[in-house]
Amino acid sequence: MHVKVFSFHRVSPEIDELWQPLHPDRFRKILQYIVNNYKVVNLDTFMLSEYKEPADRPYAGITFDDGYKDILTYAYPMIEEYKLPFNIFVVTNCVETGIPPWTFVLDYMFANSSVLENRVSTMLPEAFRKPKWNSNSDRLSYAKELKPFLKDCTNNYREKIVNAYIENFSDVVLPKDILLTWSDIQYLHKQGVNIGSHSHTHPLLGKIEDESTIALEFKLSFDMLTEKLGHEPISLSYPVGSVDERVKRIAREVGYKLGFAVNQVEYNSDEEDIFEISRIELYDENMFKTKLRTHGIIQKMKQLF
Ligand SMILES: [Zn+2]
Repeated sequence: MHVKVFSFHRVSPEIDELWQPLHPDRFRKILQYIVNNYKVVNLDTFMLSEYKEPADRPYAGITFDDGYKDILTYAYPMIEEYKLPFNIFVVTNCVETGIPPWTFVLDYMFANSSVLENRVSTMLPEAFRKPKWNSNSDRLSYAKELKPFLKDCTNNYREKIVNAYIENFSDVVLPKDILLTWSDIQYLHKQGVNIGSHSHTHPLLGKIEDESTIALEFKLSFDMLTEKLGHEPISLSYPVGSVDERVKRIAREVGYKLGFAVNQVEYNSDEEDIFEISRIELYDENMFKTKLRTHGIIQKMKQLF
C-alpha cells in the first residue's frame, strides 16, 4: 500500500526572508491539486485499519508540524471547504510557554534584528567565526549556513548557541500568538482534526544519546495531550525528521501507534514500518516545482547531482 503524506508548516501571507511561509493562495492551489489527484485519507484510522477503502486515485494524507496559529487562520478554513481530514503535530512545551520551536526562533531573530555584532562567534567552529556582519543581508546569508549546521549538532550545544543568540539579538522581541493555544487545539480537535505529538521541546531525537531523555520527550507530550484531548494521542512526528531505531522503539513503548518522518518520498507499507512513515514536505514554490516534488522528481535530481 502506498500513501503520499504531505507535510506543511506555516500558511500565511507574511514575508519571511529566512523561512518563507506557504502563501494562502498557493496553499489553495496545492489543496486543489491534491483533491483532484488523490484520495485524502484520515491517517490516524487509515494507517491502523486492515481494511482500506478502495479508491480510484492514489491515497494521500495532509499533516502540519509545530502547530502554528496560521493553520487555524488560513489553512483550516480552506481544508474545511473540501471537508478533508488532516493531522496537526504540536510541541507540547511550546504550547505551554507560547514560545515557538528553536527552528523558528533562530530564523526570526536573524531576520528581525539590526545587531551586526556577532558575540556568539567565539563559541562556534572556525567556519562560523565572524565577529561582525557587514550588513543585514550578510547576517541573513550567515543564518542560512548556520541553521543546517545547528541541526547537525548535539541538542545541548545547539541550545547553548540559540540561547546565546537570544542575548546577542536583544533588540528582538519574539512574537506572541504565533502558535496555536490549548483552546485552539481543543477547538480543532472537536472539529475532527487529529492532534498528535511533535515531542515536548522539539529536539532532534536521533541525536539524543540518553534513551531516558528521548522517553521523557515522548512521555511528557503523551500525558499532556491525553489530559487536554481527553484521550491518548495516536500519532507523532519527529522534529526535523530525526529518527532512528531506538527512537521508534521508545515511541512505541510510550504508547504511540504511528510515527511520521520526513524522508521526502511516498510511504510504501512493504518497505517501511508505521513508525517511520515517509512524508513529502511542500514549500512556497510555484505549482510546477510543487508537482515535481509530489512525484519525488526534485528529490531524485538532488540525489543524482
Ligand atoms: Zn518541527
